[in-house]
Amino acid sequence: MRVRFAPSPSGHLHVGNARTALFNWLFARGASGTFILRIEDTNVERSTRESEAAILRDLRWLGLDWDEGPDIGGPRGPYRQSERLHLYESYASELLNAGHAYHCFCSTAQLDIERQTALAEGRPAHYAGTCRRLTREQADVRIAAGERPAIRFRVPEGRDVAFKDVVRGDVRFHTDVIGDPIIVRADGHPAYNFAAVVDDALMEVTHVVRGEDHISNTPRQILLYEALGFTPPAFAHLALVMGPDHSPLSKRHGATSVSEFRSKGYLPEALVNYLALIGWSPGGGDELLPIDELARRFSLDAVGVSAGVFDEEKLAWANRH
Ligand code: GLU
Repeated sequence: MRVRFAPSPSGHLHVGNARTALFNWLFARGASGTFILRIEDTNVERSTRESEAAILRDLRWLGLDWDEGPDIGGPRGPYRQSERLHLYESYASELLNAGHAYHCFCSTAQLDIERQTALAEGRPAHYAGTCRRLTREQADVRIAAGERPAIRFRVPEGRDVAFKDVVRGDVRFHTDVIGDPIIVRADGHPAYNFAAVVDDALMEVTHVVRGEDHISNTPRQILLYEALGFTPPAFAHLALVMGPDHSPLSKRHGATSVSEFRSKGYLPEALVNYLALIGWSPGGGDELLPIDELARRFSLDAVGVSAGVFDEEKLAWANRH
């Protein structure tokens, strides 16, 4: 069993993401699996090495160690997406050659207008498919003339994409509501959905455990696995950590990052135990446990579907104990 935590290094480690990392770690450690750390830094404007270093430091402070990662390497590396651009390039060419992808020359301004019009007319705001019908020859002529297109994935029409989510059960999307996603931007950088699929496949990830905010990406990713001839992993989407008003925990609720709680004097054992209790229960009545014991008891099937509220009072209680 191989799982991964795949943070984007564009800020602090949010406690919601720390909980995703923790559940992956508990799952791996409880089943003698492999826990991979992968840095998703293809958004050049937002990613920084400082943020990456801070995320690694926060994970270590929590006691979450990894078996393969950017600092220690491993058999399926490199583990930073910015060092894997040649791989995305080669799989994008494969998709283009097979007709599963096409060049898109639409400008941002044009896409914005189309989006506004679609919304005003009550139609879905996804990509209208303008460049879908261009032939490869027409595209090559425009590229030779100096245009820099993006690459889009051709989503098959009129199909259902279904999967059994380990936490949420049966999930089904119809492809008519999915616009053709960009897989490689005009600047040559891969988009998240594409890079994540190539990496999860090549890193032989067996279970993708991540936040529920990614559930609508999953059908696109499953279609990409199919087009690339890879077998999709199992998916488990965790409910987001909520603030007291039941909206996703954010700055306006107060502290949100692991480093803020550390500065406030909380101990890693308290934070780990408290985060584990949001949406899962180790059972047995003893409320606070060593991290290895949490791993021994952890089961993905026992993770609840509903959102957990982050309550600093309860964290403080755990910390006092
Ligand atoms: N980089 C993505 C994020 O931080 C990873 C999502 C995933 O686990 O697939 O949200």
